Amino acid sequence: MLAEEERHLRDLSRAFTEREILPVRARLDESGEFPAEIIRQAHCAGLLTSHVPEQYGGAGQGLFAICLIAEEIGFGCTGIGTSILVNYLGTSTILLFGDEVQKERYLSEYCAKPTLFSFACTEPDAGSDIGGIRTNYERRGDAYVISGQKAFITNSTYADYFTVFAKRKGASRGLKTLSAFVVPRNTPGISVGAPLRKLGQNASNTAPVFFDEVEIPAGALLGREGEGLMVATHALARSRLAIGAASVGLARAALDCAFRYARQRKQFDKPLTDFQVVQCEIADMWERVAANRALVHHAARRYDGGEQGFKHIYAAKDFASKMALDVASRSLAILGAYGYTRDFPLEKMLRDSRVLEIYEGSSTMQRLMLFNELLRDGTEP
Ligand SMILES: Cc1cc2nc3c(=O)[nH]c(=O)nc-3n(C[C@H](O)[C@H](O)[C@H](O)COP(=O)(O)OP(=O)(O)OC[C@H]3O[C@@H](n4cnc5c(N)ncnc54)[C@H](O)[C@@H]3O)c2cc1C
Repeated sequence: MLAEEERHLRDLSRAFTEREILPVRARLDESGEFPAEIIRQAHCAGLLTSHVPEQYGGAGQGLFAICLIAEEIGFGCTGIGTSILVNYLGTSTILLFGDEVQKERYLSEYCAKPTLFSFACTEPDAGSDIGGIRTNYERRGDAYVISGQKAFITNSTYADYFTVFAKRKGASRGLKTLSAFVVPRNTPGISVGAPLRKLGQNASNTAPVFFDEVEIPAGALLGREGEGLMVATHALARSRLAIGAASVGLARAALDCAFRYARQRKQFDKPLTDFQVVQCEIADMWERVAANRALVHHAARRYDGGEQGFKHIYAAKDFASKMALDVASRSLAILGAYGYTRDFPLEKMLRDSRVLEIYEGSSTMQRLMLFNELLRDGTEP
């Protein structure tokens, strides 16, 4: 059950999706146009700033609120959703590890006007293995200087700020030498490569970023030197659950499309919904969507309640992203050949769903991290 404030946020997000996303999602998928205007509207509606404390201009809500927003936006389009939700990831690094000066500066600006915060961790040779990061920093007087290359960075063509993860120059490979920095996009030495062409989520922008002797003030460091892994782990945990919620949204949308179609499509002189196999297929998908939503909500409530550890989040991201791909594929099957065409949104949902299992840590990595927590906490769910 949702509290009144939560119901209000869900309804607001749902209305936003119906008004701003559903009418344009097919066009943006075809053109690959960046949804700048939708992001601006989402910012106006407060859908980008729910997590920021009120003193900086946000609504001061928790992870549960982000999940409500993410599910509704995911219902509309996970490509547009990724462009919006990655800002939660980028700003969570500051929210969780920024000092008062950094929060006042960056979070206040983020709430005052649409400002894009990207998260720059992955590199050409370091994906799951964050310890393999080669981008490096060195301290020079009152400044840090960053050099290296990042890959697959969402929104990077349009970002205003990057949270950059780099290792201390000269240090050997490892997790304890990583640090995180907030780097303004217009700093000399930063360049962004050509956007990648992808299977799906075409309304999201993904491109490499290059850092050539990028000098930033010492005040750009988040937390302390050597805390980069902790910054990434904690910020990603929040964002991974939002991906779980967006996965539930995508699956809901796919099921809704299949259900409507099956009720009106006649074969053998009967609607498809008169066939028990189709009835069971739809009921089975509904069970999976409902169970995954419950898992996402459960994980969010535990996080907001102060639980240490992220195993419920890892489980929800892994489970829900797989479920979204499965439900999109099975829903498409109910539409037969029509489902395979661009006249219906299911082929887009199927393409869009594939990356939910890949980005912000593959399903395998979610399970490996979950297992590590079981070693510490035992198996009680
Ligand atoms: C559309 C898109 C947007 C993205 N946005 C961002 C972003 O904004 N910021 C950012 O930093 N990154 C971003 N990424 C990168 C993403 O987070 C990585 O792709 C992801 O972490 C996986 O890394 P990888 O692709 O290098 O795969 P790899 O690490 O090379 O893994 C490849 C395969 O090997 C498996 N594997 C790896 N290690 C192990 C192991 N120890 N045991 C068993 N199996 C293993 C993995 O599960 C996977 O199946 C984005 C990626 C995409 C596709």
